[in-house]
Amino acid sequence: MKRYSAFAIAREAFRYHMGWERAWASPEPKKKYDAVIIGAGGHGLATAYYLGKNFGITNVAILEKGWLGGGNTGRNTTIIRSNYLQDPSAAIYEKSRSLYETLSQDLNYNVMYSPRGVMMLAQTQHEIRGYERTAHANALQGVDTQFISPERVKELVPIINIEGPRYPVLGALWQPRAGTARHDAVAWGYARACSAMGMDVIQKCEVTGIRSEGGKVRGVTTNRGEIDCDRLGIVVAGHSGQLADMAGFRLPIESVALQALVSEPIKPCMDVVVMANTVHGYMSQSDKGEMVIGGGADGYNNYTQRGSFHHAEETVRALCETFPIINRLKMLRQWGGIVDMTGDRSPILSKTPLEGCFINCGWGTGGFKAIPGSGWGFAELMAKGTSPLCDAFTLDRFREGRFIDESVAAGVAH
Ligand SMILES: Cc1cc2nc3c(=O)[nH]c(=O)nc-3n(C[C@H](O)[C@H](O)[C@H](O)COP(=O)(O)OP(=O)(O)OC[C@H]3O[C@@H](n4cnc5c(N)ncnc54)[C@H](O)[C@@H]3O)c2cc1C
Repeated sequence: MKRYSAFAIAREAFRYHMGWERAWASPEPKKKYDAVIIGAGGHGLATAYYLGKNFGITNVAILEKGWLGGGNTGRNTTIIRSNYLQDPSAAIYEKSRSLYETLSQDLNYNVMYSPRGVMMLAQTQHEIRGYERTAHANALQGVDTQFISPERVKELVPIINIEGPRYPVLGALWQPRAGTARHDAVAWGYARACSAMGMDVIQKCEVTGIRSEGGKVRGVTTNRGEIDCDRLGIVVAGHSGQLADMAGFRLPIESVALQALVSEPIKPCMDVVVMANTVHGYMSQSDKGEMVIGGGADGYNNYTQRGSFHHAEETVRALCETFPIINRLKMLRQWGGIVDMTGDRSPILSKTPLEGCFINCGWGTGGFKAIPGSGWGFAELMAKGTSPLCDAFTLDRFREGRFIDESVAAGVAH
């Protein structure tokens, strides 16, 4: 793989950009791999990348039924933060955030990480208590967050109305090194790096069955034939329940659609990410100038990937209170993704009852930020059978009552 560099851009400019090579190969599946990952979203691709980079396991296939990054990874609102409450969460999300800081250099692919700062508004006394508690927990965990005053909120976000008609802004949980990254680029960067290591990223390859023998995984059945493997990673977000069913076990997961929308582009007016959990909405401004707006999840289980009018209306109505200037904006597009929600709002990174088969799911509304950290830990789990980043997030915790409650950190906030 040729490296991208300023020199390469200059060279290609002189030869009419005819010398760029394909970013990743499109191989036919082989009969057998050391490891197969189902799902070429960010988490699946990152797992494959760190299997190769950290453990030298490169005989790997990543199977994707659609196009890579076409699931939630390419549909999210790109918020990256690590201000969670519980220690295991802070560890994996902060590892992830710190990997994002240098991901472009690591992958030699610009993922446009922008540590512009993320604030979660406190608009009730209950939220003040919750976020102050999180700020104290973060201080002990070594995660840099602060609880800031309404005046500081206004200084950072001049377009905000801190006196809101229903809910005035009473303060905010502020993480200065949190931010955003370009979601497609994260998937593309990992895919290119995996392909460069000799791994097979195979699109339009749907897994329709999981084969086992004597309680151990043998391989998968796909619409492109049977593929054997020694280790299998299921990393399919909203489809986790279906794949677990194929492998013969059940998951404590509900799949629901989560929606988002963007406005027409406007001049730069807000250079941080703001989340308002009480009125239920959050917003940032993309590099193109669009206001990227996220709302809540559907109240019923479903597998749609579309937006719906009532969500757009509810979310925009809520945000108009906090940001009156968006009253006159036209909304351009809305869409949905199928998110995989656990009861304690924490992910599952775990061995499964089927030997050799591992599962990474349950990131729900907030897994984009976790892609590098999750890939790092899950690769270790698949390679060594244990990982300090993953060991608290086992499937067993739901049976044993060891919940990792992140309902305050997860809520509407992604
Ligand atoms: C609207 C919206 C906004 C969000 N905002 C944020 C945010 O701001 N910040 C944040 O951190 N997170 C956010 N999230 C959540 C985040 O997008 C997800 O947690 C994360 O992208 C999950 O990544 P993944 O790789 O696990 O799943 P996905 O990207 O969904 O990848 C799974 C892949 O598996 C494939 N697959 C499924 N079944 C099969 C099969 N049988 N065979 C082969 N392939 C299969 C799918 O096609 C898919 O490509 C948001 C999500 C949505 C929908």
